[in-house]
Amino acid sequence: MINLKPFCEAHVARDYGFSEPFAAGGYLYATDRSICVRVPTDLPDATGRVPNAREMWANYWQPTTWTDGPLPAVTTPAMVPCETCAGTGKVATCEACDGQGWFITPDAAAHACRECGGTGLGKPGSGEEGEACDACDGKGQVPNTGSVEINGVRYSIPYLEALRALPNPRAWCITDDRVLLVRGDGWEALVMYNYA
Ligand SMILES: [Zn+2]
Ligand SMILES: [Zn+2]
Repeated sequence: MINLKPFCEAHVARDYGFSEPFAAGGYLYATDRSICVRVPTDLPDATGRVPNAREMWANYWQPTTWTDGPLPAVTTPAMVPCETCAGTGKVATCEACDGQGWFITPDAAAHACRECGGTGLGKPGSGEEGEACDACDGKGQVPNTGSVEINGVRYSIPYLEALRALPNPRAWCITDDRVLLVRGDGWEALVMYNYA
């Protein structure tokens, strides 16, 4: 059973149907608008508000020449040192503002602390004795949110990493619209190029 949840939109202020997989036309879809993965299903079409996945799929699933095998390996690491704690997993409190991030001046106005830029945190790397870093859960490493080029087109690294978790990739190609198509045993995926 393929877990489609990682391809849904994780944090939605208003739910337009992107937060859960949904069935349409014999496929179960999961999408966050930039990546879409589908697997065959016997489930009846979802009712209510769901994205028009069939139209989206028809628009973007325009294969060119398939390359057999998994996606080319990217040399970029999946995890990178956390900037907040400089990879130490610990953060110290800013001494200038005692962790408040701001000062109240005699005229009762609040001013951001210049020392920490309002974060209340000490300098990265200064916190070996400090608290566990919130940004990385104390691990010192965070997912690499950068992008990487495949055949001259940039794609977001977290999406490529998520695709690697899918079983038995068979082939991939990049469409004329720079959409990355990947298919494997029992699944198909498309990824929009990275605008950054
Ligand atoms: Zn950290
Ligand atoms: Zn400060």
